[in-house]
Amino acid sequence: MSETYDLIVIGGGSAGLVAAGGAATLGARVALVEKRALGGDCLYTGCVPSKTLIKSARFAHEARQAQKYGFQTLEPKFSDDSFASITNRVQNVIEIIEHHDAPEVFEKMGVEVIFGSPNFLNSKEIEVALKDSGEKRVMRAKRFCISTGSRPFTPPIEGLKETGYITNEDVFHLKTLPKRLFVLGAGAIGIELGQAAPPSDKKSFTGSIMSKAVRPRG
Ligand SMILES: Cc1cc2nc3c(=O)[nH]c(=O)nc-3n(C[C@H](O)[C@H](O)[C@H](O)COP(=O)(O)OP(=O)(O)OC[C@H]3O[C@@H](n4cnc5c(N)ncnc54)[C@H](O)[C@@H]3O)c2cc1C
Repeated sequence: MSETYDLIVIGGGSAGLVAAGGAATLGARVALVEKRALGGDCLYTGCVPSKTLIKSARFAHEARQAQKYGFQTLEPKFSDDSFASITNRVQNVIEIIEHHDAPEVFEKMGVEVIFGSPNFLNSKEIEVALKDSGEKRVMRAKRFCISTGSRPFTPPIEGLKETGYITNEDVFHLKTLPKRLFVLGAGAIGIELGQAAPPSDKKSFTGSIMSKAVRPRG
């Protein structure tokens, strides 16, 4: 006989953590199923790395403006002569912050945290292939909350695949600063990456070619 929860949340990013933590705090019996690590896009490929990168970019910008404040102009150099010193810092900041999204934090709220990949057996049951052991566990719930987030969308632009591109899943791991960065898409994320890009010079461009007129349907 499988266990019955009031709520099973699938996906432990910002949305899933709030849903699971909130419901458990209100007294529901909650399980959270995550296939990788708690924290999702915001912690690993979004808000946190992006703001950390912007902080380095802003520092470099201000150093170059030193004369304005009565100092000699400075040209910041990467601490180990490579952009890796910047992205290593980004990864260090993620490590410092990730304990806020640790399983224990949510377990203290009453959430049962399970790492694995779920499949629906029917409208009330899932089977989870557990990450550690590979064993299958059947779990039953009155309600499910699907909060599995999103992945970067690659627009069907001719030549893009051949040219090569990176997304927000790669950019925070770069070890070499690209000489030029052209950001496709000028929404909040594109603008943010565009302003973070030039910690060593001004060779950065932000462009938007993804207007509603060219966005593919479906
Ligand atoms: C560069 C950048 C900067 C950003 N800055 C901000 C900001 O300043 N402020 C802000 O509010 N937002 C910001 N965002 C947006 C924010 O990161 C997202 O809105 C938010 O992370 C979405 O949360 P989510 O829980 O919906 O999805 P996600 O964070 O993507 O979480 C989904 C989770 O589900 C898991 N999952 C996926 N499939 C399965 C499956 N089959 N089974 C189990 N688990 C699964 C994933 O591993 C992941 O942990 C930024 C995004 C980017 C890219």
